[in-house]
Amino acid sequence: MRKLTLVLGACALAFAGCDKKADGEAAAAKPLRMITEATFPPYEFLRGQEIVGIDVEICRAVAQKLGRPFQAETVDFDSVIPAVISGKADVGAAGITVTEDRKKNVDFSIPYVKTGIVVIYKKDNPFKDVAQLKDKRIGVQGGTTSENYVLEQLKKEPERSKSPAEAVAALKSGRVDFVIADVDPAKNCVKGESDLALSDFITSEEYAVAIKKGQPELLKTIDDTIAELKANGQLEKWVQQFTEESDKLKEK
Ligand code: GLN
Repeated sequence: MRKLTLVLGACALAFAGCDKKADGEAAAAKPLRMITEATFPPYEFLRGQEIVGIDVEICRAVAQKLGRPFQAETVDFDSVIPAVISGKADVGAAGITVTEDRKKNVDFSIPYVKTGIVVIYKKDNPFKDVAQLKDKRIGVQGGTTSENYVLEQLKKEPERSKSPAEAVAALKSGRVDFVIADVDPAKNCVKGESDLALSDFITSEEYAVAIKKGQPELLKTIDDTIAELKANGQLEKWVQQFTEESDKLKEK
């Protein structure tokens, strides 16, 4: 599995005078470990070797509020929630849609964006309505709400890829007829591709940060951080900044 770990921020803090610190202080200096899936611009993507994006900044702000160093790691999307459940990571942020099923396994913060999934299609094979998809090959990123949509609404097996971009490559080469993906990475995928287009939303979803159940204090810190980032306009600035940066990377 492709893995990449980045230790960001004041890591040295974690080791500063550990032996003299009280337990609480030592815990405070442990890095906040974010788990994500960095093929999902503008929420998380790679700038060279560095994992960057809106979700990374939200989690970094949480770490700052806690006075802890910060690190981010990328895995396949279907490994993100398991890493949170097992305690391998402290926070999961990967454009994760809040769903009733996931709520059984993790706790979610307040949402930080309202969004949804769309159909990506070739202009020479236009998307008309959902009924049209039933007997077609549909590409999705594995483990996502797009996969659930195909399984539950279209009652069929999708063609699974590791990323929205990989699913779109399958569309371009004719291995699938349509792709379903979250709107923002979908927009990034069709940037500069004059033969591709997007439908309107076919679902309504919200992203939130996922943590292991039973940590009300951590959850409150994340909720407070998100509320502040919304209120002071910082979240919106990151949306613009990382949309522009990931669009530029796509154009290269
Ligand atoms: N929002 C979608 C989901 O939670 C896709 C997320 C992703 O691929 N990173 O399933």
